[in-house]
Amino acid sequence: AKSTGHNLYFVYENQMADNINAHLTLGGGLRKAIENEEFELHYQPKVALPDENVVGAEALIRWNHPDLGMVSPDKFIPLAEESGLILPLGEWVIRRACRQLQEWRELGYPAICLSVNLSSRQFMQADLVDMVQGILEETGVDPAYLELELTESMLMTDAKQSIEKLHSFRELGLTLSIDDFGTGYSSLSYLKKFPIQTLKIDRSFIHDIGIDGDNDAIVKATIAMAKSLNLKVIAEGVEHRSQVNALGGYDCQEVQGFLYSKPLPSDDFVQFMQKQVGH
Ligand code: C2E
Ligand code: CA
Ligand code: CA
Ligand code: CA
Repeated sequence: AKSTGHNLYFVYENQMADNINAHLTLGGGLRKAIENEEFELHYQPKVALPDENVVGAEALIRWNHPDLGMVSPDKFIPLAEESGLILPLGEWVIRRACRQLQEWRELGYPAICLSVNLSSRQFMQADLVDMVQGILEETGVDPAYLELELTESMLMTDAKQSIEKLHSFRELGLTLSIDDFGTGYSSLSYLKKFPIQTLKIDRSFIHDIGIDGDNDAIVKATIAMAKSLNLKVIAEGVEHRSQVNALGGYDCQEVQGFLYSKPLPSDDFVQFMQKQVGH
């Protein structure tokens, strides 16, 4: 009975992938999903050590599909990449994030930095910088509060062009972060050439911290290296107090993970921030 259950689950998973695929590739399916407001952004707090005050958030997309329910971005982002529909979707994400920043500001909440993830195809988009500039002007957001999270592989595909693009973003006033750091293959010499401000250590290294001495050594060395390059370090995927203690000991400036909160809808995120102010 156990294996049948497993197989059924497997079939269901496959079928679900097919369904998602069909929805995405059918003409304008994704655009319609945007128009129908089936996407939303959730916000996961970033806290500074050692005080654990909320200093920022990462915006993470959610697809609340009418038939399929909540679809994880790991499922639909790769498909949106393949079909090119990531471009309108990615633009929606940036606009939504900027509007959210303005909304929080109008409500009088203390300013926090909000980061958004870019996909590789989106990063290669020729008019990306202009598009972001347009959204900043349209929403009136102070660019200092918008951060882009980019992966090493994204930057290394065409390193020279990446450096130029990153400089353009810096001229706009944005902050730039390398996501999933340690899983790609960027060389240290390139790291110095990229005008970035933040390294986000991948959660695969954080998971075993305190248990696996090798990962402790990697994390410790990464933080030390980042410091010497004048970069801020944030650790993702923090689930246990023991991880925070280890990271604090290595002088990690910020942490993010389920220990503090999962990604939250905007109302819940605001409540989370208010609870923090109260304590
Ligand atoms: P990511 O950028 O590395 O985002 C971190 C993922 O780890 C998120 O999954 C988050 O919910 C999850 N996470 C946070 N804290 C913990 C923790 O303590 N433990 C564990 N196990 N996981 C944690 P999510 O939201 O499902 O997003 C998955 C990936 O989808 C993201 O990985 C990112 O690559 C992509 N993604 C999400 N939103 C967007 C978006 O708006 N645009 C693009 N291009 N990609 C996005
Ligand atoms: Ca990220
Ligand atoms: Ca990440
Ligand atoms: Ca990741």
